[in-house]
Amino acid sequence: MPGLHNRVRGRDCQPDAGEVGRRIIAWFRRAARDVPWRPRPLGTKRDPYMVLVSELMLQQTQASRVAERMPEFLARFPTVERLARASEESVLAAWSGLGYYRRARFLHAAAKAIVDEHGGAFPMTVEGLRSLPGVGRYTAGSISALAFGCREAAVDGNAARVLMRLHAHDGQLNNLKDMTWAWSRAEALVEGVAPVRMGAALLNEGLMELGASVCTPRAPKCDRCPLADLCAAHCVGREQEIPRAKRAAARRVVYVGSVVFVDNRGRLLVERRPSEGLWGGLWQAPSIEREDRAPTGPEIGAELALSGSAERVEAFTFQTTHREVRFEVWRAGEGERPRRPGASWKDRAAIEALALSTPQRRILLGASPAPAGDRLV
Ligand code: SF4
Repeated sequence: MPGLHNRVRGRDCQPDAGEVGRRIIAWFRRAARDVPWRPRPLGTKRDPYMVLVSELMLQQTQASRVAERMPEFLARFPTVERLARASEESVLAAWSGLGYYRRARFLHAAAKAIVDEHGGAFPMTVEGLRSLPGVGRYTAGSISALAFGCREAAVDGNAARVLMRLHAHDGQLNNLKDMTWAWSRAEALVEGVAPVRMGAALLNEGLMELGASVCTPRAPKCDRCPLADLCAAHCVGREQEIPRAKRAAARRVVYVGSVVFVDNRGRLLVERRPSEGLWGGLWQAPSIEREDRAPTGPEIGAELALSGSAERVEAFTFQTTHREVRFEVWRAGEGERPRRPGASWKDRAAIEALALSTPQRRILLGASPAPAGDRLV
């Protein structure tokens, strides 16, 4: 398409920010999906607590899973004060199934900081918001625009992808320099938006929604895109090449032997993981982990001081973003009382209320897994 190519080159691949912003907002008003964290009518100021919860949940969990779980979380902790007063155990339990539990701890710590250091009111500036635990540039910009109507940008991976394609910027989403470039383009768009009520909020959300539903990583739907005739990558047929793919790091393999103990009252033995690291602070069946190979039956028997042997009942693999966790599940014989300081016997109802990772929910409760950012293979 030489004509289009020239046309884009002729304007130096710099589409007019005001025009781009107007089109994104108009498209968003027509095409925004219904999700629990987006009240209608669009452009309504939101409760900053709701924005904080939804943004942290959405960071590494699929939107459909967040849509399922967020109402339950908010019913349990309807205000920032209630969350601040809650125990960490109950917050982690409410986060079960969303994965990446570090976010739950940050959310809890941010709620405490808002209550203890800010009298229960959210800071209204980006700088003030960024002083809260777990709140980075993106979340601060998002809260500031969505809850307080400030003219602030918020750039996630979806927004950055649209911006890189729009300007045919040959960048990568995990590259600091390229993301800094994307932030500067987003800020220019916010500046170019007419000073209408909640204009920046509509623009930010519209840009991210466009990236999530139209300008998708693979096979963008350019024929349905409101920016198609302004888009430099599309005009030269390079939309599939931009942004450049990042090389996936190999997942580290971890081997876990989890042993199910049942007492004569039908209770199960559970223990809490160390607070740091993978699934930090969550509960599990007594487990032994190795990095080189799966623990054998005799090794498990020796480490747990079993009087008899355990039976291997199941094996499965669970993938997180950075690890491939290969589980082998064992069942101990009747009457076994393993050497496991800190472990305790709990009935099914008590275990259901604990913070459990998806694989441990499967091991202890036989629940069919509902992957969230993690998956079973
Ligand atoms: S025209 Fe295609 S590549 Fe360009 S922003 Fe729209 S969907 Fe993305």
